[in-house]
Amino acid sequence: MFLYDTKMRKKVEIQPLSETLKVYACGPTVYRDAHVGNMRTFLLNDLIHRTALAKGWKVKLIQNITDVGHMVDDTDLGTEDKMLEQSKKEDLTALAIAKKYEAKFHQDLNRLNILPATSYPKASETIDLMVQLIQKLIDKKHAYQGADGSVFFDARSFSEYGAISGNRLADLKPGHKFETEVDDNKKFHADWALWKLAPPTRTQLIWDTPWGSGFPGWHIECSAMSLDLLGDEIDIHTGGIDLRFPHHEDERAQSNAASEKEVVKHWVHAEHLLFEGRKMSKSSQNVVLVEDLINKGLNPLSLRLVFLEHRYRQQLDLTWNTLQAADKTLTRWYRLIAELKKVCQPVVDEEYLSQIKGFIENDLDTVNAILTLREVEKSTSISNEVKLHTFLSAEKWLGLGFDQDFIEKEVNFSEAVLNLAAERKVARANKDWKKSDELREQLSALGVEVLDTAKGQELNQLP
Ligand code: AMP
Ligand code: ZN
Repeated sequence: MFLYDTKMRKKVEIQPLSETLKVYACGPTVYRDAHVGNMRTFLLNDLIHRTALAKGWKVKLIQNITDVGHMVDDTDLGTEDKMLEQSKKEDLTALAIAKKYEAKFHQDLNRLNILPATSYPKASETIDLMVQLIQKLIDKKHAYQGADGSVFFDARSFSEYGAISGNRLADLKPGHKFETEVDDNKKFHADWALWKLAPPTRTQLIWDTPWGSGFPGWHIECSAMSLDLLGDEIDIHTGGIDLRFPHHEDERAQSNAASEKEVVKHWVHAEHLLFEGRKMSKSSQNVVLVEDLINKGLNPLSLRLVFLEHRYRQQLDLTWNTLQAADKTLTRWYRLIAELKKVCQPVVDEEYLSQIKGFIENDLDTVNAILTLREVEKSTSISNEVKLHTFLSAEKWLGLGFDQDFIEKEVNFSEAVLNLAAERKVARANKDWKKSDELREQLSALGVEVLDTAKGQELNQLP
C-alpha cells in the first residue's frame, strides 16, 4: 500500500513495522456535533483501515476523544476551553457534554460505515499518563515550569522542529497565527503549554499535579495516549490538514523528545472539505451534519460515495446537487445488486477487482476505483455473475453498503401528484409533448422528478 507522507513530501510504500499496522488518528473534540468535514477526515482512517485488512494485515487503530484542553482559538492563551464554553451554553457539565457528543460521533461513524477503531481513549481519563509524560520531559530538560507555574515545552530543545509543516522555529515570529498575545510566562514565544494552571474561575476539568491544580494542553494528550496504546513505533498518524501545525509538530516534538527516537513513521493528512466554496467550519457558518442529509431523505452513504469520488488529499467543494446525484447512483447500484442476486450467483473473477485494489493501494485512489465500478455496471460484455461478484467484493474497500439488503423506498405520492402523472401519461400517449413538458414542470414544482424510462414514466421524490 502506498500513501502520501506529508513529512517526506512524497508517496511512500507502507510496510508495517511489526506484525500489526499501528495507526493513530486524531479524533473529535466532543463539544458539538462533528460536521461532514470532520467526517471526511475520519473516513481517511477507515480507508487505510479497510485497505490494510483487505491485504490481510492486522490493524490497531486508536482514535482519541478530546474532552479537555482544546481551546476556543486553538492557542494556549487567553481563551476558554471549548468544552467549558459549551458547558455554559447548554447548562450541562463538561462531562455530560462530552458524553452526549461522543455518542453522536459514534452514531455518525456507524451511519457512514466507518469500521470501529480498536479503542477510543478519552483525554480526561488519561491524565495520569500525561502527568508522567510531562515529568519525563521535565527530567530530560525538554520542558520547564514557567513564571506562573504552568509547564511549557522548550521548543528550542528539539532541533528538528517543523519537519512536517515546514514551519521552522527560526521563521516563527512572536505573534504568528497561533499566538495572539505574548505570554511572559514562557522563555521563548514558540514554546507551548503542556500543563496549565487553572484560573480560580475554573471549576470543572481540573486535576491536582505536582505543578498545581490545572489541566493539560491539547497537544500532550495525543502524545500520551499514542505512546501508551501504540508504543514508540507507530506506522501512521492521521488528521486533517490543519493539524499539521502546530498540533502535529508539537506532538512529534513531545513524543520524539520523550522516546529519543522518531516515533511516527508516516504522517498522513486529509484535505479540507469546503461547502459553497469555503472551508466547512463553525466559524464560517456553513456546517452540514450527517443528520441534515438524513432529514433531506438522503442515504448517509451518499456522502461516503461523494468523498470516494474525490481524492482524500484534494479539497472538495460539496453541494447538495452532488449529494443527490450520489444518492441516485447508490440506489441504482443497490437495485442492480438486488436484481442480479435474483437471477444468478456470483462467479469469482478477479480482473476488475484487481484493478480496484490496484487503485486503492495507490494512495487511496478511490476516484478511479469508483470509475471502474461504473464501467462494470455499464458494460455489456461482463457477465451478470462477474458483475455481482465485483460489486459484492469491492465492498471490503469501499464500504458503500453493497452487502446490505436493499429495500425499495416506499413513497406515497399525494393524490395531486398521481393525477398530474396520470394526465402526463395520457399526454405522452397522444404525443402532446408541450402538455407533457408542462406537466413535468408542475410535478417538479411539487418536488417530484419524472423519468421516462423503457418501462414508462417513473416518479422520484426529490429530497
Ligand atoms: P475537531 O473536532 O475540531 O478537533 O476536528 C476533528 C478533525 O476534523 C481534525 O482532524 C480536523 O483537522 C478535521 N477537520 C476540521 N474541519 C475540517 C474540514 N472542513 N474538512 C476536513 N477535515 C476537517
Ligand atoms: Zn491529536
